[in-house]
Amino acid sequence: MKIACIDVGGTTIKSAVVNVENPKDINGYSLGTFSFVPTEAAKGFEKIRANIHASIASLVQKHGCERIAVSTAGTVDWDSGKVTYATDALPGFTGYDFCRDVRDTFSLPSTVINDATAAAVAEHYYGNPEGRDVVLTLGTGLGSALVKPGILDKGCVEDLHLGHIILHEDGFLCKCGKRGCAEQYVSASALKRDSGQNDITRVFTDAKFAKAKADFFDNMRRVVEVAIDKYAPDDVVIGGGVVEIKKLWWNDFVAQCGERAQKALRPAKLANKAGVLGAAYSAMCGKFGNQ
Ligand SMILES: [Zn+2]
Repeated sequence: MKIACIDVGGTTIKSAVVNVENPKDINGYSLGTFSFVPTEAAKGFEKIRANIHASIASLVQKHGCERIAVSTAGTVDWDSGKVTYATDALPGFTGYDFCRDVRDTFSLPSTVINDATAAAVAEHYYGNPEGRDVVLTLGTGLGSALVKPGILDKGCVEDLHLGHIILHEDGFLCKCGKRGCAEQYVSASALKRDSGQNDITRVFTDAKFAKAKADFFDNMRRVVEVAIDKYAPDDVVIGGGVVEIKKLWWNDFVAQCGERAQKALRPAKLANKAGVLGAAYSAMCGKFGNQ
């Protein structure tokens, strides 16, 4: 089966055709295409929606997909595929009945899940299906999800919202309206802000950015510790674009963590494909109330 998959973030919409032979074997899923377009979030809801529809239409028409699977930033109700909350990173998304919109537009079975949940599902079933994993995804923001072993339904995956725990009283203003949220310190956006440039590899290689790097490690370590204390996972998986350059920083970071964290930490394996693969796996194997 061919599934049209998109992953909607605040900056880009990734899209891919995922070919599935055995639904339960995510290791056997293959990506037929993989491409990006800008989300153009600053242009407002209708523009984002038009870009989403265009991405899906292109996949469905070119490849004859039989199903649509979406992962998106924002809090998504697992059973209905409706966005119950989104920050200004996706204007107009709070209350958006995303699944119904896509299903009605394309007349294909459709599922919509949160992007951190999708990444967590993919990393869990790819890496450690019998374990209990917290997956942190560093991108424009900081996504976080817990996946437990068992049937893949809303009881099995939990959006943890660790991106919005307060790390610094009176810190940077977050898109959620609070100040000092973790995602203002532990995200690709934070690294860019603190180093003043778009090429984050320099933060890890140029001594000029030693302070930005040390702060980033310290803040990320604190988020990992909260995850371990609150959710007792077997593994804490860190994913997102920053992990694609892990050889520049991973070992240094892990060395600064406590013993429990050192045992639990592992880098994500699926890089920026985790969102689309997790959406595809959930569409094939997830149990939903109404999507
Ligand atoms: Zn926040």
